[in-house]
Amino acid sequence: MALFKSPEQILQSGHDALLRGSFAEAYGNYKAASMKFSKQGNVVSSRLAEGYAAIVAIAQNSTSSNAFYSALQSVRSLGDVPLKLGLREISALVLATEIELLASEIDVLNARAVTPAEHTDKARRLRELATRFRTETTDTVLVLPELFFKQSILGESKALVLSAHSEEAMAESLVMDDPKAAAEHYQTARLLWMQAGRQDLGDVAASRVRSYGKAVRCWFCGREISGEGIHFLAMPSDLTELVKKTAKDSALPAFDPSQSQIYACKGCHSAIYKMAEAQAIEKMRELEMRINVQLEQIRQSIAETNRMISGMRR
Ligand SMILES: [Zn+2]
Repeated sequence: MALFKSPEQILQSGHDALLRGSFAEAYGNYKAASMKFSKQGNVVSSRLAEGYAAIVAIAQNSTSSNAFYSALQSVRSLGDVPLKLGLREISALVLATEIELLASEIDVLNARAVTPAEHTDKARRLRELATRFRTETTDTVLVLPELFFKQSILGESKALVLSAHSEEAMAESLVMDDPKAAAEHYQTARLLWMQAGRQDLGDVAASRVRSYGKAVRCWFCGREISGEGIHFLAMPSDLTELVKKTAKDSALPAFDPSQSQIYACKGCHSAIYKMAEAQAIEKMRELEMRINVQLEQIRQSIAETNRMISGMRR
């Protein structure tokens, strides 16, 4: 019973629970220990137990940076004391740096970027954070990912992943003006993902390299343009062999022979799309009017039938 235990014993129960991976239980013990220490007037130990509680609270809410920041505040207030976390012992100062970097990681990765300027800013923040992980964490694994998720992650591998994200943000900042340059940044990102062991994200980056780097000639206006999906799009079309032959003179393709698709620059594509949409709406209105006329006729004949039935009953 926690009631008869000394605060030191309760603190130890917290450590034991943490070692077993029972985070909620550890949190409860640390909180109880902090309260008991406080009642005894032992401010230093109470603050220490409170610090442990704040650290363990991260486990329950590890996707939001809030838990990290409140733990950071508690851990910083401890000064340079050794902390016992699972099987590891770590200085509160070193842990504070790790917590701060992990919190920034969540914030920077979640930062919304839509405009080129926002993408550029995000790229810069990601790059700076990558450098901090590389220079400010020691060469042992990060303590919290190991403690909470049994993941062995070095600061260096965090730096790799953040650098890859940074290259992708850089690419997105450039794609509106210079899709070829954007493709080059995705190429760098691809290499970083491979180095980080993320084949899946490397493949995604590789497909961006292909589409952003691809150059075509617009079937309609003849403009040469690169950046598939952004500056030009493929449109389904029926192509005869003769039609295909006539388009062969250009160095850049105007159609994809394997899929019966032509390429249209964004300007031509959106003009055609908008015209088709306007026509579809007009057709729908015509149809609606015809249906309304028919509905009215049906309504009238039902009313007529009802009158006849009630006439027969009389
Ligand atoms: Zn065009």
